[in-house]
Amino acid sequence: MNQIGVHALVWVGGWSEAECRRAIESSKAAGFDLIEIPVLDPSTIDIDMTRQVLQSVGLQAGCSLGLSFDTDISSVDPAIVAAGDRLLHQALEVARGIGANYLGGILYSALGKYSQMPTREGRANCVNVLRGLAREAAADGITLGLETVNRYESNLLNTAEQTIEMIDAIGEDNVVVHLDTYHMNIEESGFRTPVLTAGDRLGYVHVGESHRGYLGTGTIDFPTLFDALAEINYQGTITFESFSSAVVSPNLSTTLAIWRNLWSDGMHLARHARQFIDQGLRTASRSLAEANP
Ligand code: MN
Repeated sequence: MNQIGVHALVWVGGWSEAECRRAIESSKAAGFDLIEIPVLDPSTIDIDMTRQVLQSVGLQAGCSLGLSFDTDISSVDPAIVAAGDRLLHQALEVARGIGANYLGGILYSALGKYSQMPTREGRANCVNVLRGLAREAAADGITLGLETVNRYESNLLNTAEQTIEMIDAIGEDNVVVHLDTYHMNIEESGFRTPVLTAGDRLGYVHVGESHRGYLGTGTIDFPTLFDALAEINYQGTITFESFSSAVVSPNLSTTLAIWRNLWSDGMHLARHARQFIDQGLRTASRSLAEANP
């Protein structure tokens, strides 16, 4: 069975003890197995406090981040690459410390709009850093996910195919493809082929609408996505991601261009999403069984 997660920004924009508690308790109350905690600035996460709240509520956690242009490991500037390497190791330390087994996102470049093509040298730097990070993560049973994102959020990995190529270059078993329907909608030819292309290397999925609001109210073809996941017998985590100007993270919200209010009631949104995902998975597994009696 898939673990079903929810991104912390459905609940809170910061990570004080009160925000941490509210986010984790709300995720549990809305029926999720896991919360995805953004660690763009690992130093803002109180590791012991977070682990204790997770344990007391009985919820799993994953961590995610995007690098910045100051910490871009796909840069050709050794100082910037070194800063990114340090930041990724700090994020890994947070994941390990709070008991998460997943660290994903735009671990491979800055999260932002580039004004030039990626370079061979920068890509090689990225592969080197991620290989070292993956080896360290493996020792703690942590999986790294490279989230394939749209062209305005990275110039390096915009399709599942590109992500697989990079994972092959890294050459470590604990690095997986992380797909996100919001980004697939912009860059891929559809919702089935990239899932099949990733196959058993798909390790994490973000479900988000085309406008990042309520699932089913945009243009994402969710039935095709869920059918494809059933087809490859995907057993990994599926995390709901949604953003609205109602919940603001000072850094992340502006980077993701969250300018509009798509919802105000996170609990209503999250319960709806939980049911939507459940129904999508059940419908897909039923139609797969009917097609293969
Ligand atoms: Mn995502």
